[in-house]
Amino acid sequence: MVATKPQRVPVECYLCGRPITRDATDPRFLRTRDHVPPQGFIPKPRPANLITLPCCRACQDEYQRDEDEFRNNLGALAPASVNAAARVTWETAKRAFKRGPGVTKDFVSRLQRVAVPRADGSTEDRLALAFDAAQTRRVIHKVGCGLLYHHLRQRPRADQPLEVEWDTHLDAAEYQPMIDASHYRDSFGRAFAYVGLVVAGSRDSIWLMWFFEHHMASVAFLDAVPTCDS
Ligand SMILES: [Zn+2]
Repeated sequence: MVATKPQRVPVECYLCGRPITRDATDPRFLRTRDHVPPQGFIPKPRPANLITLPCCRACQDEYQRDEDEFRNNLGALAPASVNAAARVTWETAKRAFKRGPGVTKDFVSRLQRVAVPRADGSTEDRLALAFDAAQTRRVIHKVGCGLLYHHLRQRPRADQPLEVEWDTHLDAAEYQPMIDASHYRDSFGRAFAYVGLVVAGSRDSIWLMWFFEHHMASVAFLDAVPTCDS
């Protein structure tokens, strides 16, 4: 009797949909686990409820630099004085600056002085950090894809209509009705929290996310989920 090696059943990458296995001969299609949000945003000790999804090596590599730079941006701007997770992230960012002179040069080149209006009509000179808008959008979109897949097992098509918003000054109260009506929600320490809502009678879903209880972003996937009443 000949023992046969059990066949590995491929699963799909939650980002590109390619079939992936742990013993793929092409390293690009090796099955890995990807964190939602990226692991670098959640300092240790990491909570037990972290979301992980099957992902191919190629997709993970593709987003690595965007995620690292976005983390450094957030680390610099997050409220480190009141949020311990933000403080740890800023320390991680500073280590990245020490390791890579190019990273530091890029970061410093994006610092700029801006005149912020005061209530009395005068202006205050402050230091601001310019984000790479396309890079920020890619990371937020990826996190949104992870939440969509985790809860609804849906992968947006490449041509999927979607809206991504990112603002460090969004008024959370404005979104309270959406938060109250949400179907999905979770939080990971004080580092990341989200809510998700499938719009009644439509195929649209909206995902709101908060980084370090401060920065807020949203992703809306239009026409991407089955309607409850169809
Ligand atoms: Zn992939």
